[in-house]
Amino acid sequence: MMDSVGQIIKNSKKIVVKLGSNVLSGNNGKADMKRIQNITSQLVDLIKMGKQVVIVSSGAGIYGVSAIDKWSRKDDINYKQALCSIGQVELMMAYKKTFAEYGIQVGQILLTRTDFEDNIRSLNIRNTLFTLVDEGVVPIVNENDSVSVEEIKIGDNDTLSAYTTTLWNGDCLIILSDIDGIYSKNPKINKDAVLINKIGDIEDLRKNIETEGKSSFGTGGIVCKINAAEKVNKYNIPMILLNGTKENILTEALTEENIGTVFLDKKGVL
Ligand code: ADP
Repeated sequence: MMDSVGQIIKNSKKIVVKLGSNVLSGNNGKADMKRIQNITSQLVDLIKMGKQVVIVSSGAGIYGVSAIDKWSRKDDINYKQALCSIGQVELMMAYKKTFAEYGIQVGQILLTRTDFEDNIRSLNIRNTLFTLVDEGVVPIVNENDSVSVEEIKIGDNDTLSAYTTTLWNGDCLIILSDIDGIYSKNPKINKDAVLINKIGDIEDLRKNIETEGKSSFGTGGIVCKINAAEKVNKYNIPMILLNGTKENILTEALTEENIGTVFLDKKGVL
């Protein structure tokens, strides 16, 4: 029998929570402080339950556009990076402000693929994560967009959150997106799409669902979430996909039976 979302969260001490761009933006496509406030208050509740939390957060681009209101349509990579550079500060200010209301400090960690490929760098990141969390600080991880050109970038924060979870030895990874979970096909364009609550065989899932289409700000798409699940499941770490645009979703997930999607593919486990 596979555990429910609520059981997995309750049984987990170390939780990585990934927030997608859509979770951080309102209907107008701009930064929505209320979303961060609501998620922060739920994460603080988890911390009060004795859990440790690491955040992997997208949204630098959205916060950049919200801050300066230009360059959003420029395709030039340097402008995109410039926008993220501005937005990363705004994003961190938003986290800093909301966590400060609970007397909690946040720390920023910006990473690229090379950081995970190099043993010494990985060890340093790991030590920093452990130290921050041990001291009651909430680390906020993001890709280091201003140095990340194609050759060295991870490319999407779903993958980054999976790497972060295994590096920190997390007990579960929660990905917050703008859909209730994995469906038989894209629910945004198919009314008859069916929500799948539990996934025990990722290979099988890939053969049986449709995955095209993604939201305007999303870089990863649903395929990246499935790949992230595979990466953590290999270490017997479950991944949970929930709709982060819904108020109090994490709190609800603690008690609701059929909410979101749980991935726990035991094939890769030694
Ligand atoms: P985020 O920005 O939160 O990372 P993405 O836009 O990258 O989110 O990916 C989520 C999107 O993937 C959903 O909004 C949905 O439109 C799309 N999608 C495509 N196929 C599926 C599917 N089978 N099940 C769920 N979502 C799907």
